[in-house]
Amino acid sequence: MPRVLTVREPWASWIMQGIPGGKDIENRTWRTHHQDWIVIHAAAALARPVPGQFPEFSPEVMAAVEKNRGRVLGIVHLLGCHLERTPECAFHGCESNPWAQWSQPGEKPIYHWELANPRRLVTPFRAEGHLGLWDATPTIEHLLKVEDWQ
Ligand SMILES: [Zn+2]
Repeated sequence: MPRVLTVREPWASWIMQGIPGGKDIENRTWRTHHQDWIVIHAAAALARPVPGQFPEFSPEVMAAVEKNRGRVLGIVHLLGCHLERTPECAFHGCESNPWAQWSQPGEKPIYHWELANPRRLVTPFRAEGHLGLWDATPTIEHLLKVEDWQ
């Protein structure tokens, strides 16, 4: 049974963008040991844009964001997960990766989830979101098998 990660927009669409410029680090305050393809689900709620925050949201991405909210967008390979500001983090070049976020003093440390090779569904389908890395429902698992992929 595949696992699903609910991500707020516009970050979910940026993950599915792939190279060049797509989001290849997911920032979470909890570690995962899961390494496999995971399903990306766009939360219905939008993240609040922060002025000056990377990236500037392009009109193309924002148009995709509106129609993707509350839907399963596709899959991405979760290669690994490491703690910020560690040798492993340096190895992955996070300091020069604009998608990597960093905790401030007194905040929970951030784990960088390493993502690669997103594959998008032609038609994202609706699903309810959940917290954590959750098990795909039988309906989601079925739709992933029968829907068309880009
Ligand atoms: Zn890192």
